[in-house]
Amino acid sequence: MPIRRMLGSLKPTTSKHGVPKLFHEPHVETGFRHLHQPWSYYFFSLFQVHNECMNTWTHLVALWAILYRTYSFHQEFDLIGDPYMWPLCAGLITMIILYICSSFAHCFSNKSELIHYTCFMIDYAGIGLYGVGSTLLHYAYCLHDNMVNSWAHRYSGLIGVCLGLLVTICCSISKTRYSRPYPYSRRVWQLSSTLGIYIWLIYPIAYRVSLYLFNHQWDSGLGHHIHQMFWFFLGGFFFGSDIPQRFCPGKCDFLGHSHQLFHICILMTSYKQLDAVYEDIKMYSSLIRGIPVPTFMSTFGAVLITIVLNTVTVVIFRSVATRKIKDSPKD
Ligand SMILES: [Zn+2]
Repeated sequence: MPIRRMLGSLKPTTSKHGVPKLFHEPHVETGFRHLHQPWSYYFFSLFQVHNECMNTWTHLVALWAILYRTYSFHQEFDLIGDPYMWPLCAGLITMIILYICSSFAHCFSNKSELIHYTCFMIDYAGIGLYGVGSTLLHYAYCLHDNMVNSWAHRYSGLIGVCLGLLVTICCSISKTRYSRPYPYSRRVWQLSSTLGIYIWLIYPIAYRVSLYLFNHQWDSGLGHHIHQMFWFFLGGFFFGSDIPQRFCPGKCDFLGHSHQLFHICILMTSYKQLDAVYEDIKMYSSLIRGIPVPTFMSTFGAVLITIVLNTVTVVIFRSVATRKIKDSPKD
């Protein structure tokens, strides 16, 4: 059988001494795939034990989960014919794109140095886009009536697009400006820009949480939103801490690495976010249909503009990476 033969012929993985420094990860010693192999090698390595395998699979599982949720939303709501459901449709599209970009990045990033840079910039562009999609979701369906027509509501999409683009720019700077071993300031570029858009997209929810804390106003969607925030911050903890592998270098190369735990937390964040949005659509139905009808530009248009701006950003930083590779000493 050709697939079995292909898997059998995959080169065994190597230790960190077999790949350039760019591909090293803190506290990861083994399971590195070889560079400059055919694309099919990286695709079939999905079924091989290596240190990016579970990073790819955790995102593929997330992709499947979001596609399944999209199908169930499609069964219940008219995602295309009803303009009030366009923010939901646009938000789901951004989640699907995020998980495709991230799975692609982890699966193919070992092909060459330039592809490594490009893959992770595409990953960052997906994260920025997901931030925009979440902004559309929260400001369309999760708004308390005190916030309807506020300045934040009116400019939510525009500010969301700017912050989404900022995520791609700052994370791409962090990737091209520093060399391994990366200083902690690199994480600051990544975490601060991501936190920036998160603060913006979570603002309507934070307002509702404050009403609960100070006025005891509870509603059924709030529990899901709080779970979503918990998973997001837990994900940030794993992303920034290198726990658990810092305590047992080389033992989490295949399974249990903090990046895999971060991916699982992000999957749970998306999942609880959709539970919360569903609950809010049910509960705030009359309020949602009382606000001006969403337009193409304020929903799919915002997503398209972000994709175009993020693509331009990736192209620009790809040329920065090309120069960096040319100028850097070979190791
Ligand atoms: Zn990742």
